[in-house]
Amino acid sequence: MSVSQLAAKKPKMAEEIKHLPMIVPLPLPEEQLKEIVEKSKDWALMHGAAMRSKTQFSEDALFFAPFVLIPSAFPRKEFAKALEIQLILNELMHKVAHDRRFLTESLKETIKVDEFTGNLFRIYETVLGEGLTQRTTLGLLRSDYMVNASSTDKIKQVEINTIASSFGGIGTNITVFHRYILQELGHSDMLKNLPENNALEGLCSGMIEAWKIYGKPEAVIMFLIEDITYNICDQRFHEFKIREMCPQVRVIRRTLTDMAERASLGPKKQLLIDECEVGVIYFRAGYEPGHYHSQKEWDARLLMERSLAIKSPSIHYHLAGTKKVQQTLAKPGALDQFLNDPSKVEKVKQIFAGLYSLDFDELGEQAIQMAIDDPERFVLKPQREGGGNNVYGLEVRDAVKKMKDSEERTAWILMERIHPPLSTGYMVRPGGSKAPQLVDMVSELGIFGVVIGDAEKITYNKQVGHMLRTKVATANEGGVAAGLGALDSPYLID
Ligand code: ADP
Ligand code: MG
Repeated sequence: MSVSQLAAKKPKMAEEIKHLPMIVPLPLPEEQLKEIVEKSKDWALMHGAAMRSKTQFSEDALFFAPFVLIPSAFPRKEFAKALEIQLILNELMHKVAHDRRFLTESLKETIKVDEFTGNLFRIYETVLGEGLTQRTTLGLLRSDYMVNASSTDKIKQVEINTIASSFGGIGTNITVFHRYILQELGHSDMLKNLPENNALEGLCSGMIEAWKIYGKPEAVIMFLIEDITYNICDQRFHEFKIREMCPQVRVIRRTLTDMAERASLGPKKQLLIDECEVGVIYFRAGYEPGHYHSQKEWDARLLMERSLAIKSPSIHYHLAGTKKVQQTLAKPGALDQFLNDPSKVEKVKQIFAGLYSLDFDELGEQAIQMAIDDPERFVLKPQREGGGNNVYGLEVRDAVKKMKDSEERTAWILMERIHPPLSTGYMVRPGGSKAPQLVDMVSELGIFGVVIGDAEKITYNKQVGHMLRTKVATANEGGVAAGLGALDSPYLID
């Protein structure tokens, strides 16, 4: 089917989009709501479903993270599908990350105009040119989905994250939180529909496994962190869990600037900082330009990539997680290069939404025209992570018109907009003194995967858990750390 034929298949209008059922009768009586909200805030604070405040920052204080009081309905079959497909996605991303030709071809136009991706790519070429010191890679991935009400309620992938995939820690606690809330509301019979979640343990097992492969008892696991960590619980939980699961392992935290100032390579290219040898690096920073204050932070990234440390992600995994690569993988025939089993290819194709390049070729021109004709059907995305970078609604038209004659357009991709079904519930945020109101919301499911291996083989491939983020239906984006989203749990319905 050509791009223009695809464009002719219009999705249902927003008003036709259906509502998911309420899992308990709402609204709750006023007194009951007040009491359960008070309890739930304290539960959240006391179990670390919390963050540091951006507006009233103190290293010594936490605010509870925004949450949805009663878990949102999610179709059971689609949830099971997302879990099942994670092993295939792990394999796919591992192979893509190790395919120099594919990454180079996919990114060749983008890196000419997008400085950030260009810088990452230069590091990639440098370390490949020198020969990799560490061939083992640790992928800690999160594949994100929304149910698409315009395609008979099937999940569609929003993106796959290969760097700093967050909320494995707090998300695990939120499952326990919602068990508590349903019990408090007298619905113990419903607990069976809240799926178990061991994301934290699964992610930490991956890091410990990599540390064992590194093979030096005195080596540390280093978390590479931002200058200020607001989402601190979602990092400390990992740190504490690692110590609990494998008492010999020490975790240290360092910024890119710390690395620039004090890190060096030993005779075997061991990564050394502050008297420690780093066996594994877990990146919770380095995914956006603002994290690199100057050339010296870029030099520090190169130093880490040159080192013997096992990196999550390595530079090639980082590049494999770009939106441009996601779009290239949706091209006809692309998946077949990596997945030799046609049934796997078919499964992955099913979860892809329409993805279009804005390159200077016939398909690119068609995509530009589609975006101008029908902007609200699409989301326009640059090569960035961390939320707040995409363009939505009528602004898609303006943005595309503005960039259509400039090279800049090749740094963007166009994606079919997914229209999730609405759910109704209470969102609770810090600072709100009044009782929460019922609002219409939409949810995004994330599934965590761990994959370890090298260019020849995969030695570890697991699906390890989930997280659900929910935002008010009118918001374009719902990052929890970024501000509009709230933590939630999927309540499975048939
Ligand atoms: P980021 O790397 O910034 O997280 P995403 O691709 O995940 O980029 O987009 C950010 C948010 O924008 C998503 O969490 C989702 O809420 C919204 N979004 C992204 N793509 C789509 C889409 N195709 N349809 C609807 N909403 C989308
Ligand atoms: Mg995202």
